[in-house]
Amino acid sequence: MSEVLICGGAGYIGSHMAQWLAEHGHSVTVLDNLSTGHRGAIRWGDLIEADLLDPAALESAFHGRSFDAVMHFCAKSLVGESVAEPYAYYANNVTGTLNLLEAMRRHEVNKLVFSSTAAVFGNPVSDVIDEEHPKAPINPYGASKLMAERFLADAAHAYGLRSVALRYFNAAGALPEHGIGEAHACETHLIPNVLRAALGQGPSLKIFGNDYDTADGTCLRDYVHVQDLAQAHALALGFMDRHEGAHTFNLGNGQGFSVHDVIATAASVSGVAIPYEVAPRRAGDPARLVASSDKARELLGWTPRWTELAPIIESAWRWHRDQPRWSPHHIHADASIQAA
Ligand code: UDP
Repeated sequence: MSEVLICGGAGYIGSHMAQWLAEHGHSVTVLDNLSTGHRGAIRWGDLIEADLLDPAALESAFHGRSFDAVMHFCAKSLVGESVAEPYAYYANNVTGTLNLLEAMRRHEVNKLVFSSTAAVFGNPVSDVIDEEHPKAPINPYGASKLMAERFLADAAHAYGLRSVALRYFNAAGALPEHGIGEAHACETHLIPNVLRAALGQGPSLKIFGNDYDTADGTCLRDYVHVQDLAQAHALALGFMDRHEGAHTFNLGNGQGFSVHDVIATAASVSGVAIPYEVAPRRAGDPARLVASSDKARELLGWTPRWTELAPIIESAWRWHRDQPRWSPHHIHADASIQAA
């Protein structure tokens, strides 16, 4: 059993990670600045309230503690915002990651699982994206994550850091039975927006573009349940015990669902007709983003359990439905950023 430091453990994916590790007998400590995460989502370990941009706070987080591995979920992760505020993205995602790596090196923690993203690939040049696909990010968010991946490769060579970077496609779903789900103050993601529309909450739902070169004209995305992402991170811990070096894996279900598919599935799961309007395309949205996760299945032994769209959306629906009505008081945080 391992002692794991989860940076960003109060956020969406980080809190599901903490739940998984605790359920499987590991010991969890959460490090989070609570800028966008939720204190209430920290249920499976102690909180160290610290910011990756504060090296002194990081030093004291590691001092006197012994971690077998770090999982790093802290990130600004909104594409549009990254275009508007690139310095904030490079500071948080690049400098913050560097500070964390430096603290790990000083304290001889040599295993890291890193949250990366499909955004490192930029506009796809093939229907299904595997790890060898060219990396050509088209926004500062993707560029910042690709730089961090490069750090990991260099750190493997220079310092013997073992790492696994997991490139998520579209994280989705919730664990309502454990009281955790996707709660961003400023929600940009499709599934939460669709479910809020079903609940009559939030702004009216907009489909960003219906003139793409896809069957129904809307963008295709590969939705993967957060619990399956957590499973992959846990497998990465074992993988790093057996393998030196820096490794990357794509995580998705390998199926593309359109915006219309998501709306229709959400309507069927919730029993509510969901009103929407068609709006112009959103800048930076590729028509199709679908992963090949063959490498993760073969080398990590990853077996996603949530392979159908309806149960993924249904888990998110049950969680959203049971939340108190969304309000600025309910959601703690800076409205403009989120922990990945
Ligand atoms: N989308 C939409 N309306 C929304 C949010 C998203 O039409 O309110 C579309 C978006 O343009 C993209 C897809 O849904 O084609 C998935 O977007 P999301 O922000 O959930 O994830 P992304 O793929 O951008 O990471």
